[in-house]
Order: sequence, then structure tokens, then C-alpha cells
Amino acid sequence: MKIYTFPRGGIRFEDPTAPPENAVAAAFLPGLAVIPLVQHIGAGAYPIVSVGDTVKEGMLIGRGQGKGSANIHAAVPGRVVRMVSWRMGPETLVDALVIRMGGAFEKLGRPVKQYSWEDLPPFELQRLIAEFGVVEMEGPGRPVSDMIAALHTQEEPHTLVVRCVFDDPWTAADKVLCQERFQAVLEGGRIAARAARAARTVFAVSQGDEALGKRFLTQAASSAIPVSLAMVGSRYPQRNQRELALALRLYEKRESLELGSLLIMGPATLAAVYDAVRLHKPMLDRYITVGGAAVKRPQVLKVRLGTRLGDVFAECGGLVAGPGRIAAGSPLLGRPAAGLDEPVIKTTTGVCALLDKQLGGGAVRRCIGCGECRTVCPVGLDPEALYKRIGLGGNRAAGRAGECHGCGCCEVVCPSRLPLGSSIIKFARREPDHV
Ligand code: SF4
Ligand code: SF4
Repeated sequence: MKIYTFPRGGIRFEDPTAPPENAVAAAFLPGLAVIPLVQHIGAGAYPIVSVGDTVKEGMLIGRGQGKGSANIHAAVPGRVVRMVSWRMGPETLVDALVIRMGGAFEKLGRPVKQYSWEDLPPFELQRLIAEFGVVEMEGPGRPVSDMIAALHTQEEPHTLVVRCVFDDPWTAADKVLCQERFQAVLEGGRIAARAARAARTVFAVSQGDEALGKRFLTQAASSAIPVSLAMVGSRYPQRNQRELALALRLYEKRESLELGSLLIMGPATLAAVYDAVRLHKPMLDRYITVGGAAVKRPQVLKVRLGTRLGDVFAECGGLVAGPGRIAAGSPLLGRPAAGLDEPVIKTTTGVCALLDKQLGGGAVRRCIGCGECRTVCPVGLDPEALYKRIGLGGNRAAGRAGECHGCGCCEVVCPSRLPLGSSIIKFARREPDHV
């Protein structure tokens, strides 16, 4: 089968400290759940409960406030004991509700009622997706209803892309989710395609996972809209929006299709769409990848939102030593976490606890001019030159830094341990006008 991929750069990303990709364990429920009112890209949700109130599992506790914002629900039943500013990352404080768990669960362990959606119009599907607080379960957490609404303003046809691209061992949670909740991902795709009025669905599956791709194709054959399978590369960062779009444009050309705009969604997001529309269930838990050299037993866990990272690590046998750094996400792209009290939220794809030696330790040396950073940059940038210009400061740093899409490949391969990618990304975010 033809494999489509982005044209240049990238790396083979291997990490023995990531967990196996074959099983998920359910974590204990948190006795004290910390529920931030910001778990999405936009403004914080407006709290509609107060300290002392009793809340039910899945109850609406924060109402989204316009574009970019999303509803927030109680991940556990209990009593709201505090409303606080909580640290999410070293420099970010957000409003959060602290719920002491207690009372009966409305959903956990109860028979699951299913609601039919096939006859609902797209706008009603979109409303349900918004009502149950579904956001893209990675990155900054764009509300899925906003993503769909943006497509409705466009004339050209659009395609739902189901992104099952595992180019990085830290996508283990998504891979396991595809095995454990295959039907939910599949039906979530059908729902999202209908809500978005997509003309086609493409399952983008990475090389090495052909069996998964064929299973999708076979079981989706009866869908109301055309479906097809595009096998894409497994070289990192194939799953990034830009690199995936490049591969799919090659696929489009070769197959003589018209894909139009691409609505790309991962399996976790589609399973959440299914839960919202088919089960009327808000986002209460998620699969996360837990690993790093400081973690005794790396594994994929199903975790309630609001569970603190200290409890997550305890589920994995604890830490072998004090971590040098804890990152929310992967070691390559994750952001620094505030510490063991930071809670799991909708967009927490994983968590890694790194030992000092995993951080690269050792001294940063001078560039030896090996050119590796240029070879791996998928955008065709010269990371070494950009890094130097940023070091010189001011407008002299102007150049192509704004084109960097933060894959981190250059930094991984640099034998001199220069912080190339992180400096360029930081600069581009801080001074967007200068790039
Ligand atoms: S310069 Fe940016 S896009 Fe290029 S390899 Fe580095 S982080 Fe990736
Ligand atoms: S990879 Fe590092 S040492 Fe090699 S050219 Fe780039 S900056 Fe210099």
C-alpha cells in the first residue's frame, strides 16, 4: 500500500521510558478532585456552583463563555469545598473548584442509556457536542463545536480526517484507546462528519498499523458519506497538523479526490464526541500516557479529570527518585507542569517525570557545524542560524522563526545540546511581530 508522508526532515522517535502500547489500567478515583475552569483555549467557564454546594457526577459546574470557551462538569460527585486559584504550569494560575468526593455516582457502574442521533440535524449534533463540553483533547483545547462552526462558513467541501498517527511512543494512550474503544472512535467519526457536513471521511493511519486502518475501512463501509484510508508515514512529526496535511494533499492528488478543508480529529476527541451525542455524557475521564525514567511502572491509565499528578504517579508504583522535571504531555513537546498537585484536565495527553540525566544534563557546548538540525527540520529552516540571531536580540532575529511549528526535532539531534527548538518557539510566541 502506498505510504504518504511529508517531504523532508523528521526523526525516528524512540523512548524506552514510555509505557507499553497494549493495555490500559483504571486509576483510583480522586478523593479530592481539582477541576480548573479553564480546560480549553478561550476564557474560563463561569462557575455556577458555590462553596458548600453538593454536586452530582457529570453535573454542569462551569458554563462556557463564548468562542473558545467550553462547559465544565463535575468529574466526581461530592461537595465543593474550595474555589481557588490553582497553578497549571510554573507561570499560570487559573480558577478551579475543589470537590471532595462523596455520595452516589450517577454514571459509573450504571447501565448506559444510548440515544439515537442519526435523524438529528447537524446543528443539533453541534449543540450536544457543545453542551457536554467537548474540546480537542490535545493542544490548547479548541472546542469541537467551534471547529465545526468555522467550517460552516466555508463554501468549499471539507473532509473529516480521523488521525490515528502514532509517530511517537508518547501517543500510546491514543493507540490503546483505538483498541479499547474502537466502536466509540468509529461512531464518533460518523457523528463529527455529519455535524460538520463533511463530504468525505479519511482515516489517516500510520505505517505499521495497517490492521487498524483496514478495520476502520471495513466497519465504516456502510457510512452515509464516502470513506477511505490513507496510510501515512510513522516518522515524527507526521501527526502534526502541517505534516499530516502535506501527506494528505499528496494522497488527494494521487487518488484524484477533492478533499477541500481538513477537519482533523484524534481518537480521544472522537470518543468524547461519541460519549456526548450517543450517551449524553460529558468529559469526565481520559486515557493518558504516563512514563519517564523517574516513574517506576510506566503505563497507560484511564484517569478521572481532576486527579492530581501525584496520585497518577502513585498508580504507577510511585517515583524512583525526585524528578528533575515533570512535563504535561511528552518529553519533547510537553509543557512544564506545576508539580505533583497539578490536575489532569481534558487536554492532558500524558505526563512524564524526567530524571536529571534524561534532561540531557551536561554542559551546552558550541555548535560544531554538523548540520543535523537543518537535516531534520521539516520546514526547511536553519535552526542554528535562527538560534544565533535570537541570541543577538531585537529585530535582527527577524527571519523565518515564525514558520517554526515547534516539533523540537532540531533540539533532539543537536550533539552540542543547544536549546534550538525551545528558544525559537519561545521567541516566536513572545515577539510574533519580529518574525
Ligand atoms: S526549527 Fe522549529 S520546525 Fe524546525 S526542527 Fe526546530 S522546532 Fe522543528
Ligand atoms: S545540530 Fe547543533 S551542533 Fe549541529 S549544526 Fe545544528 S546547532 Fe550546530
